[in-house]
Amino acid sequence: MALKGLDIFKLTPKTNCKECGSPTCMAFSMKVAQGAVDISKCPHMSAEAMATLSEATAPPMKSIKVGTGEAEYTLGGETVLARHEKTFVSKTRFAVNVTPDMDIDAVLAEANKVEYDRIGEKMHAEMVYVACNGDAAAFAEAVKKVTGKGKTIILDCKDPESAKAALEICKAEKPILNGANASNYEAMVEIAKAAEVVLGVSGADINELYDTTAAIEKLGYKELVLDTTGANVKDTFATTVQVRRACLAKDPDRTFGYPSIVNLSKVAPNDEPMQIALASVFVLKYGSIVVMDTMNYARALPLFGLRQNVFTDPQKPMKVEPGIYPINGGDENSVVLTTVDFALTYFVVSGELERSGVPCNLAISDAGGLSVLTSWAAGKLSSTSVSKFIKEEVEPKIKCRKLIIPGKVAVLKGDIEAKLEGWEVIVAPNEAVQLVKFLKDMQANGEI
Ligand code: SF4
Repeated sequence: MALKGLDIFKLTPKTNCKECGSPTCMAFSMKVAQGAVDISKCPHMSAEAMATLSEATAPPMKSIKVGTGEAEYTLGGETVLARHEKTFVSKTRFAVNVTPDMDIDAVLAEANKVEYDRIGEKMHAEMVYVACNGDAAAFAEAVKKVTGKGKTIILDCKDPESAKAALEICKAEKPILNGANASNYEAMVEIAKAAEVVLGVSGADINELYDTTAAIEKLGYKELVLDTTGANVKDTFATTVQVRRACLAKDPDRTFGYPSIVNLSKVAPNDEPMQIALASVFVLKYGSIVVMDTMNYARALPLFGLRQNVFTDPQKPMKVEPGIYPINGGDENSVVLTTVDFALTYFVVSGELERSGVPCNLAISDAGGLSVLTSWAAGKLSSTSVSKFIKEEVEPKIKCRKLIIPGKVAVLKGDIEAKLEGWEVIVAPNEAVQLVKFLKDMQANGEI
């Protein structure tokens, strides 16, 4: 049960010393109750009060770190069921499924071909899921093949001895040991604790998953992920959604407050279209890790785009830093184009400029992270803002005095020219894709 501000206030020192940044202990308590401030911001709380409050005010879903170095990822930590309520925080990670009888190097090589670049974010399959087929020696060999490959490893192994041997090979990479169930959880907890790795828990159904997780928590281990994969698509979806709803309900049940693994190689084996469709569903509906047979561009294009859209914070515009971006070797004598700092606009325009092969400078001014027409309508892209930016940031660095403005704000041309003495203002076409021909023609005619 979440604590109210008054409950928290009773445990504070009530000295109103302001060291937490709040004017009074009561104000601080109200902020903690809303989740706006962490309880640790008060340096005068007794250890006893801290222990009580840390547990009671902890987020309902635990954040779990897995992997190391560049392959370290945070899973979970979500606070809402729907992205529009606030934001989702830890994006779904994709894992490629391998088994000891496969050509593992070939599977990894195929997955590694995919490096999908969208709006400045490079995306790839981050994890590899190694499923044990009952042959401990073959499993260990498979684990050797995926170790040191820059992917977070998930070991699917229910046999404690095989799991222990596999962890000896890869534990330095902080893999997930997805191996605990109702019959082996005590041994698996010992192994995961000793290797300091995250433990995956599964159950024959949602009730068994709950009971096993509760039993593991009683043993004092809370570095967990829940394998919500069921016997079929329907069970998997129902379990994954119910687990998330239970932990983020108004009165949360923290036994289910962990990230999830959904294994599509089990529920839709060798069925690429179905795996893509299901992966899309589980990006939206609560898969922290989605395991698939492979990763290729047919899968990456829809899935990475969807994931990026769902896991961006709707309260924060996607922006690039204002400044001058030289393209195709643009220097101080190259033409200047300007557009807004909305990330999608920047990457679309800069891509087309690169395609033109014409050396140029892309000048990005602060337009509040909005698109061209929206920022113009909001008054954030105006002749004043553009001319001020050009005078202050561009003129000291660039000798060329030709400025190309977006076609959609052609109406600003006269005003900008009036405010920018010595500059020739040229209106670009309406669509970014037309920039290639536009610039090439200008270059051929000796205009730039
Ligand atoms: S730092 Fe602690 S004691 Fe001081 S005002 Fe904040 S809550 Fe009260």
